[in-house]
Amino acid sequence: MSPKPQSTTDNDDVVAGYDEHVMPIWKSLNVPVERAEGCRLFDHEGNEYLDVFSGISVANAGHNNEAVVEAAKDQLNTFVHGCSYVHPSRPVADLAERLAEITPGDLQKSFFCNSGTEAVEGAIKLARKYTGGKEIVALEMGFHGRTLGSLALTGNHAYKHGMAPTLNDVTHAPAPYKYRSHYGDLDDEAFAAEAAAELERVIGTHTSGDLAAVVVEPVIGEGGIIVPPADYLSRVKEIAHDHGGLLVLDEVQSGYGRTGEFWAADHFDVTPDILTQAKGIANGLPLGAFTAPAEIADAFESGDHLSTFGGNPVCCAAALATIDELQGGIVDNAREQGAWLADELAALESLDAVGETRGLGLMQGVELVDPDERGPGDAPAPAPDLAKHVGTHLREEEGIVMGVGGYYKNVIRFQPPLTIDRSQLRRAVDGLEDAIR
Ligand code: PLP
Repeated sequence: MSPKPQSTTDNDDVVAGYDEHVMPIWKSLNVPVERAEGCRLFDHEGNEYLDVFSGISVANAGHNNEAVVEAAKDQLNTFVHGCSYVHPSRPVADLAERLAEITPGDLQKSFFCNSGTEAVEGAIKLARKYTGGKEIVALEMGFHGRTLGSLALTGNHAYKHGMAPTLNDVTHAPAPYKYRSHYGDLDDEAFAAEAAAELERVIGTHTSGDLAAVVVEPVIGEGGIIVPPADYLSRVKEIAHDHGGLLVLDEVQSGYGRTGEFWAADHFDVTPDILTQAKGIANGLPLGAFTAPAEIADAFESGDHLSTFGGNPVCCAAALATIDELQGGIVDNAREQGAWLADELAALESLDAVGETRGLGLMQGVELVDPDERGPGDAPAPAPDLAKHVGTHLREEEGIVMGVGGYYKNVIRFQPPLTIDRSQLRRAVDGLEDAIR
C-alpha cells in the first residue's frame, strides 16, 4: 500500500522555488514526478500514483520503456550531430522510411520537428505552398497548439484571451459533437451528413474561395474526446478537395496506438493529404512530424522550412524503438483494454452526474454534468467544478492521476500508457466512480 500522497495546490508546494522563476504553465496535475515506470509515477517522497494520463498521451509505450531508453542512449553515445538535424543521418532516414510504411495511404515523405505545435505550423505552410491558397478551416472544439499560427486553428477562444489577433484567414466550423448537438437525435449516417453539410456551409459563406486546408483531429482530444460519426472524415476530405484545399489530419494526440489502431484515421478509412504527429512518437522525447505524399511534400524547396533540432538522431532512434514496441503488442493491448474500458464507463451513465461517456481505445472521456441545470444543446449543464473536484480527489486521496479537460472543462479523460493492465484500469474506474459519488 503506497503512502497517501500529500495534498497540493500550487506548483510551489511540490517543487520549492518553482513559481518564482518558471513562468506559469499548468497547475492541474501537480505531481512532482521524480521517477516513472510503466503506468506508475513516483514523487520525491516515494509516493506512488497510477498514471491514467501519460503526460497527455505521450508515454504510450509505458514510462521508462527500456527499449526506447536504450535506443536513445546508444544514439546519444555516438553523438554524431548530437541533437541537431542539419546533416543527414541514418536514424532520420530510417524513421522517415518507416513512417512511409505505416502511415495510411500514400504518405511518402516526412518533415521532422520538435513538437505537435510545430508539426501543425509546418503542415499549414506546406498546404499553402502546394495549393497556392491561404485560408484554413478548422473545428470549433479542435485544439492544435498555442503558438500564434496553431492557436489560430485552435477553436476554443478561452485559449486566446488577451493574445489575439492570431493568424488571419482561419475560419471555424462546428465539430461533429453529438451530445450537445443542435442537429437533433440523428443516427450516425444522417449525423455525419448534417455535420459535413455544416462544414460545407461555413466554407461556402465564410471563406473567399482561396482554401489551403481543412485541419481536423480525427478524434478530438483537448476538446473533450469527441469521436466523429463513421463517414464524416471522408466527407470532410471531399469537401476540402472540392474547394481546392487539402485535408490535414492532426494525429498529435490520437496517433501512435492511442485509439486501439496505430492511427485514428485507420478506424475511418480515410487518408489525409498531410498527417501531423508528435506526443507518443518517441515516447517522451521531443519530436514531431508531418508526412505527406511525395507530390505534396515536394512543394517545399530546400530552405522553405527548417528546424535546427527537429528530427535529431537521438529522438529519431527513440521513435524507431517506440514504433517497434507499439507494434509488438502494445496497440493490441490498447484495443482490448479500451473495449473493456468503454463498457465499464458506459455503465457509469446511470449516475445522474454523468452526462455521456465516449471514446475509442484508450482515449475515453466521461462528461460530468449538473442534472438540475440545462446547458448548451438543452442537455444537462456541464459541471466543470465537479470535474475539477473529482480530478483533485483522485490524485490526493486515491493516488490516481487522471486528466480533466474538454471544451466545457467538464470531461474526465482516460488516456493511460497503452501498456496498462486490467487490474490497473479496474482501480481507475472504481476510483472515478467513488469520486463522483
Ligand atoms: N495538436 C493536438 C491535437 C494536440 O492535442 C496538441 C497538444 O495537446 C498539439 C497539437 C500541440 O502539441 P505540442 O504540445 O506537442 O506542441
